[in-house]
Amino acid sequence: MMLCLTCGLQRPNSYKNNTCPRCKSHLKYIEAAAKGTAVKLHKAGLSVSYATAEVYSYNSYAVHTVNISIGLAKPYQVEVLRRLPEGYEYVFPEAHIIEYLSHIPIEHLLSPLLTYCVLRYEAQYLDNAEAKAVLKQKLIELDDWVDEAVEDGWLAICNLGGLL
Ligand SMILES: [Zn+2]
Repeated sequence: MMLCLTCGLQRPNSYKNNTCPRCKSHLKYIEAAAKGTAVKLHKAGLSVSYATAEVYSYNSYAVHTVNISIGLAKPYQVEVLRRLPEGYEYVFPEAHIIEYLSHIPIEHLLSPLLTYCVLRYEAQYLDNAEAKAVLKQKLIELDDWVDEAVEDGWLAICNLGGLL
């Protein structure tokens, strides 16, 4: 879906305009499974550019890859993202990002909102049910990470320090 993180308005992926018709904010490409996490990051003050969370099956469904990618629209320093949940990476290189964005419709990639870095979890499983359970669990861990960073004032400190 194309989602306005400011007012919550949703539009289908085929929607051709990048601007929210209600509040004029930028619409973001957000997959349904990642919606709750993207909203939480936005409310915590982190700028999200897109969010995908899916299980991809390869080799005639023999391998199931869990991929969670949360694009960030500012080049946050690693200190901001201290102690990410286990298995998550914080990646910068642009060429690398394009590879992972390959399934996002091209018109959304060409939007003026840049992705500077990506929070990513990727791992392969032989069992599809296990992969789906890991996808859910890893999103919960990221949600908990945001809650913790808000509750103990870490993101407020980063904000005061000009890091957000
Ligand atoms: Zn809006």
